Amino acid sequence: MDELTSNRVGVIGAGLGGLAAACTLAARGYQVVVFERRTALGGKAAVLSEAGYQFDMGPTILTLPGMLRRIFAAASRQLNDYVDLVRLDPQWRSFFADGSTLDLLADTAGMTRELDRFAAATAPAVPSMAAGYSRFLQLSQRMHDVSNRYFFSRPVDSLVDMFQAGSLFQPSTLGDVLALRPGRTVAGTVRSQVRDPRVAQMLDHFTQYVGSAPDQSPAVLCGIAHMQTSEGVWYPRGGIGVVPRALECLARDLGVEFQTNVEVREIVTAGGAVRGVMTDDGRRVPLAAVVSNADAVRTHRELLRSTPAARAFERRRTYEPACSGVVLYLGLDRRYEHLLHHNFVFSRDAEVEFDDIYRRGRPAADPTCYVCAPAATDSDVAPPGGEALYVLVHTPYLRPGDDWRAMFPEYRRTILRKLADDAGLVDLERRIVFEQALTPQDIHDRYRVLNGAIYGLSSHGRFVGAFKPGNRSRRLRGLYLAGGAAHPGPGMPLVLLSGWLAAEALDQDAVARPEDRRAERSAAISSDVVPA
Ligand SMILES: Cc1cc2nc3c(=O)[nH]c(=O)nc-3n(C[C@H](O)[C@H](O)[C@H](O)COP(=O)(O)OP(=O)(O)OC[C@H]3O[C@@H](n4cnc5c(N)ncnc54)[C@H](O)[C@@H]3O)c2cc1C
Repeated sequence: MDELTSNRVGVIGAGLGGLAAACTLAARGYQVVVFERRTALGGKAAVLSEAGYQFDMGPTILTLPGMLRRIFAAASRQLNDYVDLVRLDPQWRSFFADGSTLDLLADTAGMTRELDRFAAATAPAVPSMAAGYSRFLQLSQRMHDVSNRYFFSRPVDSLVDMFQAGSLFQPSTLGDVLALRPGRTVAGTVRSQVRDPRVAQMLDHFTQYVGSAPDQSPAVLCGIAHMQTSEGVWYPRGGIGVVPRALECLARDLGVEFQTNVEVREIVTAGGAVRGVMTDDGRRVPLAAVVSNADAVRTHRELLRSTPAARAFERRRTYEPACSGVVLYLGLDRRYEHLLHHNFVFSRDAEVEFDDIYRRGRPAADPTCYVCAPAATDSDVAPPGGEALYVLVHTPYLRPGDDWRAMFPEYRRTILRKLADDAGLVDLERRIVFEQALTPQDIHDRYRVLNGAIYGLSSHGRFVGAFKPGNRSRRLRGLYLAGGAAHPGPGMPLVLLSGWLAAEALDQDAVARPEDRRAERSAAISSDVVPA
């Protein structure tokens, strides 16, 4: 390998995971080049600005800002100098089909009062709703703590990896394993503590952050509840698009080179190691290592094709996509005062809904709608008095024969009817002055994901559902994975962490030589990776 090659590392894709990896590597002195097939950086964290309205096209709920802070701190920067974060509390408003509403509050004492109010108004016969919630949160906290120590701190891809075989049967480790309730599901764990079906439906919904069914996902995902309530829900002033812009700014500051409108067609390998990439404009770019932020499965199937690494990846397990979704971006000439910034309008029967989406592979007839109404927090997103309403409904991942061009008009009607019936948005259709939508097919085409999946790979499987492909390739030296379809999974904070873990693994392996140490090299990730 020549001098030029040995110092340069590539990142395929400028989603949040790719940007986090690029910043972390550049902060450690590596010469980094990012290839992005689109013009805009940020991947799914895209922005739509039209007719005086501004919509975040993908993620809207920002949790665990500590992860973002850590990436800036590793480069000796302060996140606050780049992003103005506003805390949202209540975190969500839940609308149930019986007409009741319940707000999710960060603070347990406040939530106890809210649940007492909810119980008194709607279910006086159900005993101790608040006590059940608080027991659930204690369980959730313990799971989060164990996950922090074993799961979030390393680029693991299996249970054995996670607990390191040798220590698995030591009493303290065994206690940690049992705290994760192996073999139990999220749905079962929630219902073992919370008897009210509406509160259970609300808590189940944390598994929608990873696009998976609560009755097929491992209990450990109950830890998400504590992560959110303890660290809060945040809105970056100016919209989520501020996050990739801030990361881009940091990356450029650290000397990262961006090549946009450039698609990587192949990862070039020789002798069991990465040697570079081939781009769609016919260039062979020599590189010492590559972090792929493209979908992990498509990286192997399309960029590594019939290499031994690709074959080994397929043999290791089967890969089921997480759910997809339909998003409506509705520019309105009014606001709805009864909506909070984040709202869930729940289905009448969650079992039927999840059965449709996750087992039968068809859009739910009565779906849960997530509604984001940001104008009260940030009046710049819409003309005066208006609203940039965002509605997301989860759907199955794309199956052969799905034709969303034909399916969309009827499903749009289903969604608008649901919002009128169960969230009081009766005049919604008349108040639309701008409209655009994203279907599963659009998500598939725009972001090059697996079968239109929003959140990478599903978390289904009672024992191993939480595990995704690890950040360090087992078979190909110099290949690292970052993004929603890699460890530790999807969602903004976790993909940022995945970029960090991929960069950390690359650095540990010494597959390339950093030029200098521009920032203090950060210590290996400690147990507070996802702060408790
Ligand atoms: C509608 C929607 C709502 C969501 N809501 C939330 C939410 O509220 N909160 C939350 O935390 N998360 C949410 N998410 C999930 C979150 O957006 C994702 O988990 C995260 O942004 C994915 O980041 P990533 O690093 O995997 O990269 P991606 O965003 O998938 O980006 C990958 C990039 O790689 C590029 N690429 C792919 N292949 C190539 C190639 N061969 N050559 C060059 N470039 C390539 C793509 O163009 C893309 O820019 C939502 C997602 C969507 C779509």
